Amino acid sequence: MIIDAHVHLSTYTGKGNFLEGCLDVLLGEMKQNGIDYAIVIPDNIEDDPKIAHLENTLELIKKTNKLFALGSPQIIQRGSSEVDKYRRLLKGGAIKGLKLFSGHDPYYPNDDRCLSYYELLQELDYPVVIHTGDHSSNPNITDPLKYNDPKYIVEIAKKYPKLKVIITHYYWPKIEYCYEVTKDVPNIYFEIAGLADDEVIKASGGIEKIKEVLKKTIKDRYNKVIFGTDWPLCDFDGKSGFAYHIELVKSLGLSPDIEKMIFSQNAISVYNIKR
Ligand SMILES: [Zn+2]
Repeated sequence: MIIDAHVHLSTYTGKGNFLEGCLDVLLGEMKQNGIDYAIVIPDNIEDDPKIAHLENTLELIKKTNKLFALGSPQIIQRGSSEVDKYRRLLKGGAIKGLKLFSGHDPYYPNDDRCLSYYELLQELDYPVVIHTGDHSSNPNITDPLKYNDPKYIVEIAKKYPKLKVIITHYYWPKIEYCYEVTKDVPNIYFEIAGLADDEVIKASGGIEKIKEVLKKTIKDRYNKVIFGTDWPLCDFDGKSGFAYHIELVKSLGLSPDIEKMIFSQNAISVYNIKR
C-alpha cells in the first residue's frame, strides 16, 4: 500500500480545467501509479479558483474514500482566531492535521500567532506540517529560507515535546544542514514531497546527495520518514511526479519492512488514519 501524504488540488499545471476535473485526474493518476490513498493539503490562498482552499477541498473529497485533508490556518489574515474552527474539524475527523506555510507567507514557525495551533494539535495528537525550502508562491518573498529555517522548527519541537512536527521539502537546497540541526530531536518527522523534482535535485547537489541524506535519515529514524509527492507539481518529461517519488524511495535499497513503513505505515500512525 502507498499513501501520498502531500498532494494539492490545483489546475495550474493543466491537470483538469476545473477543480472537479483535477480531482478526477488525481484519482486516475493515483490508480495508474499504485497510490492507494492521499492527503490533500488546501492552499493558503483563498481567492484563487485554480487551487483548492479548505472549504472546497473538504467538499471535493466527499466524492471519494481515497482522500484525506489537512487544515491550513491563515496566520497572516486571521492570527490564532481559527483555533476553535480547527478543533471542531479535527475532532469531527474532517482533517488529519494542520499545515503552516511559513515562507509562502511572511511568518516564522515560532511566531506567537502559531502557538495555540501547536497546543491544540499536541492535545488532540495530530501533526503539524511545516513548509520549508527555497520556494514561495508569494512574489514579495525573495528569501523563503529565512522564514522556514529548521532551527525555528527545532525550537517548537522542544517547546511541545509531544507534538508531531513534520518538515516537508527537507529545507532544500540545504538538506544536509536540515539533517544536522534536527537529528537529535525525537518528535521531528520528514515528509519527502518535492525531493524527486528536477529543480530541487539540481539545487540540492544532485540525486546522489538527496539519496545519501534520505538514507541516513531513515537509518536514524526509520519510523519518522513519510512518503509525499506535491502532486500535481514535479511532473517532467511527460512522467508523473508520483512515479519519480516512488522510484526515489525504491532506489534507496531499503529492506521490505522499512520500505513499507515509508510508503504507508508511518503515515498511518502519524496522521492517526483508521482503515
Ligand atoms: Zn505542496
